[in-house]
Amino acid sequence: MDSSRPPEELTPEEAAEELARLAAAIAAADRAYHGEDAPQITDAEYDAMKRRNAALEAAFPELRRPDSPSERVGAPPSSAFSKVRHSMPMLSLENAFAEEEVADFVARIRRFLNLPADEPLAFTAEPKIDGLSLSLRYEDGRLVQAATRGDGTTGENVTANARTLDDIPDEIPDAPALLEVRGEVYMSHEDFAALNARQAETGGRTFANPRNAAAGSLRQLDPSITASRPLRFFAYSWGMVSEPLADTQMGAIERLAGFGLPTNPLTVLCHELEELLAHYRRIEGERANLGYDIDGVVYKLNRLDLQARLGARSATPRWALAHKFPAERATTQLRAIEIQVGRTGALSPIARLAPVTVGGVVVQNATLHNADYIAGRDSRGQPIREGRDIRVGDWVTIYRAGDVIPKIEDVDLSRRPPDAVPYVFPETCPICGSDVVREPGEAVHYCTGNLVCPAQQVEKLKHFVSRNAFDIEGLGAKTIEAFFADGWLREPADIFHLESRHGTELRRREGWGERSAANLFRSIAERRRVPLNRLIFGLGIRHVGETAAKLLARHYGSWERFRTAMEEARDHEGPAWDDLNAIDGVGPTLAASLVDFFHEPANRAAIDRLVAELEIEDVAAPSASGSPLAGKTIVFTGTLERMTRAEAKARAEALGAKVAGSVSSRTDYVVAGPGAGSKEKKARELGLTVLSEEEWLEMAG
Ligand code: AMP
Ligand code: ZN
Repeated sequence: MDSSRPPEELTPEEAAEELARLAAAIAAADRAYHGEDAPQITDAEYDAMKRRNAALEAAFPELRRPDSPSERVGAPPSSAFSKVRHSMPMLSLENAFAEEEVADFVARIRRFLNLPADEPLAFTAEPKIDGLSLSLRYEDGRLVQAATRGDGTTGENVTANARTLDDIPDEIPDAPALLEVRGEVYMSHEDFAALNARQAETGGRTFANPRNAAAGSLRQLDPSITASRPLRFFAYSWGMVSEPLADTQMGAIERLAGFGLPTNPLTVLCHELEELLAHYRRIEGERANLGYDIDGVVYKLNRLDLQARLGARSATPRWALAHKFPAERATTQLRAIEIQVGRTGALSPIARLAPVTVGGVVVQNATLHNADYIAGRDSRGQPIREGRDIRVGDWVTIYRAGDVIPKIEDVDLSRRPPDAVPYVFPETCPICGSDVVREPGEAVHYCTGNLVCPAQQVEKLKHFVSRNAFDIEGLGAKTIEAFFADGWLREPADIFHLESRHGTELRRREGWGERSAANLFRSIAERRRVPLNRLIFGLGIRHVGETAAKLLARHYGSWERFRTAMEEARDHEGPAWDDLNAIDGVGPTLAASLVDFFHEPANRAAIDRLVAELEIEDVAAPSASGSPLAGKTIVFTGTLERMTRAEAKARAEALGAKVAGSVSSRTDYVVAGPGAGSKEKKARELGLTVLSEEEWLEMAG
């Protein structure tokens, strides 16, 4: 590698080429190191490559690659840590930006719990720390485990690293026998600046913002490195506990503080909406002087018994809300509009921007949504941005809130170059050349080359191996692209033939070797056994997200039943079709997309080839297997008097039941309150069990 020439002397083409070579070489070295292979290069050589990469990126910021080695978090990939299954999921938070959304949140809670308007309701309000969450497990007062959030169900075991934080006690003498503390690891502004200065001096990697620095520092393979990094911790929540901490959120926070854990001093108790908003404004006012990053204020219902009644949606509790601070903005020039083709064939226009810093992060891409958005109108033809369209060469305001992909807010017409022309959306797929269609009522254009479009095939494969689908470690986006280019992978079934068909070649492939190949084959083999919901999600069918996949898996229970039902529903009518549509959370669009997917012979053949390689785990109704309601299908009708419909439904689901919207022969129970009409009648005709609200409550405990 010719790294002798100063970056200033290189042409952009030469720099781009060298950056590509460096990215590949550093990635290969990372793989060798973390795959526990003997490292193939010395630390000094590795550091030299990283420094050269940083120097080139500094000289050519616009050439910084999406897979830039300096972007990679703290080096260790997730495979480097053992996994921890959380005893209780680590949830995320529902977001709000506008005050009306906060008002809605309070009103929704009142409605759900059916509280009279004059009954007081208290909430805690506290800063939302912009760090990474950590769960600490204390058994008999001793810290035995620390885990990151991961996907919420499974995180990484970072116990040795967490022990190095001064804010985290090793022992809590007066703790309950089991205590799981949850909170946020973060880095102060001052410590962050000092760390970056030190890193720059020694040629180490610098971090884009304190949150990345905190994450990179906690997720170190070598705990002595974590120990050298100034990490802090705030406790704000808990997981499993052997005895309740308190009756209220505030009481529990006070207990945590009493255990010697740091809690945030800006946590207060508020009564009703106005006080929440007032505290929000106060925290927003103090934001710049806090000395650490926060990105909003979190509201939590104070009474824990009410929290329990409200429960959680799939990923967020109903009793908490993150009220985010307004997005940050910047102005930059739009250099190009590129089209990406996704796994379902959707064409997504992406803005390539002159790099600009927004809220501490360098941004060079923004989403442009669809053709209408670029043209300055919404899906109903109404003007947006007062009808101003977006053109290559335009100066645009971009904004970014939290982690979301930046968006373009507006165009400055006074700076539009005279030769700028309106953007013409492609009529054919830029990848496969097939025609592009836009269905009536849809905003998105789709490539029609479903079975021949390489972009769709590659994206489908990436989706298939992704974390919430088959979760195949070691088969990242780049590897999929490389194997696809070589013709090794075309469809998911091919993944399971990799070893038998290309094992020898892979072991000899550049950047691989015995050990990495063996690791990959092992992680593939481990995924031959797969839960039904992951399989359904992994197929990448349009409109079938993770939640829908879970609903379907729970409803049908086994692959055979699911597969047969899809076949039987192919005409969009009949009992199987009705049954599919009766699943709560499945609408007609989803149902049609699903059934049509299975109706396509080429899809069926590909699925059969895949399924032949797998052992599919049936999905039983969740956890509550002991409950008399587990696996049952319930329909509520009429007025309930003791709890709202929403609460009844949430309770039934928590007990493992499915709640359906209409009565069929597959319904197990119909709960009928006063005013029940046709549904109750139908249930009686079908000879189903009809319960009164009292009987239902007894069953639901
Ligand atoms: P999000 O990742 O945007 O869904 O927000 C949820 C995350 O906010 C949680 O997983 C926590 O890591 C983080 N968080 C920061 N401060 C708090 C707080 N005071 N209460 C609850 N969560 C918080
Ligand atoms: Zn295409």
